Order: sequence, then C-alpha cells, then structure tokens
Amino acid sequence: MLNDLKKKVVEIAKRADNEGLCKHKSGNFSIRDHETGYILITPSAVAREVLKEEDIAVVDIEGNIIELKSDVKPSSELKVHLVAYKQRDDVFGVCHTHSHYATAFAVQGLEIKPVVFEAVAYGVRTPIAKYGRPGTQELANSIIEPLKESDACLLEKHGVITVGKDLEDAYLKAQYVEDVAEIAYCSMVIGGGKLPEAIPQEEFDAVMHP
Ligand SMILES: [Zn+2]
Repeated sequence: MLNDLKKKVVEIAKRADNEGLCKHKSGNFSIRDHETGYILITPSAVAREVLKEEDIAVVDIEGNIIELKSDVKPSSELKVHLVAYKQRDDVFGVCHTHSHYATAFAVQGLEIKPVVFEAVAYGVRTPIAKYGRPGTQELANSIIEPLKESDACLLEKHGVITVGKDLEDAYLKAQYVEDVAEIAYCSMVIGGGKLPEAIPQEEFDAVMHP
C-alpha cells in the first residue's frame, strides 16, 4: 500500500514540474496514509527528472523517519506538511508550489481575489500566511489560521500551500489557485493596472447552495 502511495507522490511531483507549477528543485508534495497515519513526502534537493519511489520518505506525524530507502533527506518544508495534517483531520494530501502568478501575489502579501468561479475549487479565498523563514517551525505555524478558512493559502514572499482529501485533490486546487491568479493578473493589465473586483461571497453561496 505504501508503495502505491509513493508512486502517487512521484507522479504528482513530476506533473507539477511538467505543468509549470514548480521549477528546478522547488516545491514539495505529500500524502497521509489512511491506515497507518504515516506521511510520505518528496525529498529535498532532488531534481524531478531523476526522482524515484525510493526517494520518498515515510515519516510519522512528529516527523520521525519510519522508512527512507535512498541517501536523501525529506523535504526541508516537512514541518509545514506536518502542521497541515495536525491541523486538519480531513486532509490526506498537501502541495507546496512556487507557481509564478500565485507567488507574485504572495510576494505582495495580497490575497488572490476570487474573480472567476473556479475559486470555489479551493474554498474561494487564499488567506496570507505571515512571513516565516523557509524551513522553520515559524513558517509551518503560519498556516494554522489560514487553513481554518480555506484549502489554499499564500505563504508571504514565498509560495502556495493547498490541501485536499488526497494528493490529486490538493494538486487540482494548486492548479486552480494558479489559474485564478493568472486571470486576476491579466485582467488587471487589461484594466489599466486596477485589480478586478471579486465575485461577491453571496454569489458563490448561491451557486454552491442553490
Ligand atoms: Zn517553498
């Protein structure tokens, strides 16, 4: 079973690279196993072209290594993933990307306004997790409050976190976050530099609960 999950982590990490959501060695991806509660996460500093199942670390919820078959380290952002799983019992997949349009909003400390209906895919909002230095517990703790409001948040001056019922679900949300960010940005350019208005929450409510 864990082997199937390792395969899935590798598959999604490679897709993120191929689809432009992550570049070089950035970004990290994890799955929580329903049966054991263990977390399977991508390694630090391994290029996606050579990433293989043996590089996926299996850790417990405190980050202790249970199994790691190759000579690599788990992602330097493991702490962020652990906080997401501790915080949300319903979460079984976590994506962290540096996708460009969404990260441009994160650099400005600006939420991506829900300007099109695709935003419902991740919970409409992208709250800002206050800046924390990469790799620190401070950064990990910054996502606690944002994840109470949405399945997506922006790490200030850094990137994007999405969570889901499995890794496919979290990845789809990461794709939608990037799409909405790109549309908001392009719309701003067309509109002469003014960010477009968000679709009102009542309208989302009416669509989601007709
Ligand atoms: Zn990062």
